[in-house]
Amino acid sequence: MTEQLPVVVVGGGLSGCACALAMAGRGIPVILFEAGSVLGGRVQSVNLKGIEHPIDNCQHAAFRIYGRFLQLLATCDARDALKLQKQTKLPYLEVDNGKISIVKSGSLPPPYHLAMSLMKVNFLSLNDKIPLRKALKAFKQMDEQKRRSLDDMPFLEWLEHNGQTERTIRRFWDPLVKAALNIGCEEASTSAASFLFQRGIFGEKDAFDVASFTSDLSNSIAPALRRTLARTGVDVRTSMPITELFREERKVTGVITREGVIPASAVVLCTPISTTARLLTGKDAGVASFEVADRLANLGNTALIGIHAFHEGPVLPDGIPFVTCCDEPLIQMLFDRTSELDDGHQMGLPGYWISVPVSHADSYIDWDNEMIRTEYERVVQTAFPNAPMINDFHVVRAKRATTALRTGSQRNRPSPLDVGDGVILGGDWLDIDWPSTMEGATRSGLTAASVVIKQRGDSTITEWHHDKSWPDWPEAPKRGAENWKEW
Ligand SMILES: Cc1cc2nc3c(=O)[nH]c(=O)nc-3n(C[C@H](O)[C@H](O)[C@H](O)COP(=O)(O)OP(=O)(O)OC[C@H]3O[C@@H](n4cnc5c(N)ncnc54)[C@H](O)[C@@H]3O)c2cc1C
Repeated sequence: MTEQLPVVVVGGGLSGCACALAMAGRGIPVILFEAGSVLGGRVQSVNLKGIEHPIDNCQHAAFRIYGRFLQLLATCDARDALKLQKQTKLPYLEVDNGKISIVKSGSLPPPYHLAMSLMKVNFLSLNDKIPLRKALKAFKQMDEQKRRSLDDMPFLEWLEHNGQTERTIRRFWDPLVKAALNIGCEEASTSAASFLFQRGIFGEKDAFDVASFTSDLSNSIAPALRRTLARTGVDVRTSMPITELFREERKVTGVITREGVIPASAVVLCTPISTTARLLTGKDAGVASFEVADRLANLGNTALIGIHAFHEGPVLPDGIPFVTCCDEPLIQMLFDRTSELDDGHQMGLPGYWISVPVSHADSYIDWDNEMIRTEYERVVQTAFPNAPMINDFHVVRAKRATTALRTGSQRNRPSPLDVGDGVILGGDWLDIDWPSTMEGATRSGLTAASVVIKQRGDSTITEWHHDKSWPDWPEAPKRGAENWKEW
């Protein structure tokens, strides 16, 4: 009897949408509940005073290694939403003298594909560069078991132990860890950081090709998700928060909305950490629910700030769409969003758009806009003394932006069936090694979907793991793939 009931997915971010699409694609009836009025969750644009065009909450970077996210875009016919680098190119700016060095992939096999260009950059001295080899070798020799055993060690300690100089840590390792894990080296788990370097930066040769969105986030993603969910038969109910899980004899048999109880054969939670913990600890919840809620609370979040400055003209030199700023704790990167956007989408912007994502921004979250603007102006004017005037300046704060991958975080990340009793877990905090990113969210949603599909006896998905392509969706693009934009 219960088998005929729909599966309810709670949360219409990337994890919930990926999960719902994957299950519906296998013939499972699905209802997706989203509290807000649009899909996409944290991947969203905001309306800022005086600007006609929606603006990203914060710069969202993606990479070619985001295979499941790129598959999600492909299955939603949204390949145009971004463009991918043809070759990995990571420009670094020395703010005090305005010099830019580019770390780029070369002809050596991974993990040495960036090594030649790293040897040539200006922002590190020879003494800084020589020990890089030791760290690369250590990553190469580190197996999965060893990596996961290093979860309690701060990554800073691991880097120092592996001979990295203070400047290399400050200029090379820390900005990458901050950008990907949203936490600095001194607090980050070595297990989480090593995963990033083994899989991402020093993984496949093309893994770190940077992808940039060609439109604002909500317009890039939300309508495509909505269309595809409808086409796949998912019953999407937006502006409809789940207030509680409905339990009978401790088993979750439905969800409660303002319209009453919606019976379900299973409930997949793809909500942020705090909401998930709240839903799990409702009336009549079992011990396992409380345990998972505690672990999620222990995980916690770190903050991100999105700075959006609009200038009278371009700020970055021609052909440099973004830079990482050396030695700048607040103004960590500058992205020239105007050059990244497709021409047709520039209407309504008050000038040339520079977007600055401030990762691990917890110590800046209470700074007022004037203080942030003063720092921004100092950095831009020092590096580019002829930079055009600022027309408009905005700051968007996200206090609970991503899961905090501090030391010891691994043991707090739950697996899909840790609660049981009719609940399947699927948010970007799931224990799948990936940080809380668009890719982590998509993989988590697919992992939850695969559990439900397996439970229904579909043996074709038994061996599936999130490292493999989702079999029902188009493949992720290799370099030069047709129908994908490159830059
Ligand atoms: C400012 C910022 C910058 C970021 N930058 C990057 C980046 O550069 N690159 C990158 O890869 N990732 C980035 N991320 C992280 C990425 O956006 C997230 O990891 C990912 O989108 C999370 O997806 P999710 O589906 O797990 O959760 P969410 O997107 O949070 O989705 C959960 C959904 O659940 C809904 N919900 C909550 N409560 C209820 C309820 N009671 N009932 C029904 N629905 C409910 C919410 O409204 C939301 O839509 C950034 C995040 C932020 C906030």
